[in-house]
Amino acid sequence: MAALRRRALQLAEAVIGPKVPKPTKAQERQAYDIALARDEGRCQKCHRGTPLTRDHRLNRSQGGLTTPANLQILCGSGTTGCHGEVTHDLEMALREGWRVPAWADPLRWPAARYFATPAGTVRKGWALYDNAGGVTEITDDEARELMEGAIP
Ligand SMILES: [Zn+2]
Repeated sequence: MAALRRRALQLAEAVIGPKVPKPTKAQERQAYDIALARDEGRCQKCHRGTPLTRDHRLNRSQGGLTTPANLQILCGSGTTGCHGEVTHDLEMALREGWRVPAWADPLRWPAARYFATPAGTVRKGWALYDNAGGVTEITDDEARELMEGAIP
């Protein structure tokens, strides 16, 4: 019986994948600093609002961790500014790239953000974030493909 249970747990783990370890307090502080530097201290939704907050793309209440890939800089609070907007309107937030669905991995879920142009201005686009502060730009089509079937 114990062997059967062990086998079932192994199978379940293979489907779910290895657990990502919860970051330590020091790692969380570092993640906030990395996200703030990556996003150049600007709200990634409007590029001008203040005060700035470090928002979890996948909510902490849904298991979202304080890792660079799961953080974005937004203005406002849970009820004001861009942070308030994406908290209030989940459907918009998922469609426009401000939230990660509960079942998805923030490392593989497109994020909307600003990119600098050679002319010194900024433009909006889509990206995948890594946990070292890296940003990989992806096309609109690639973002839609990655989010396919997940948008209400
Ligand atoms: Zn904003």
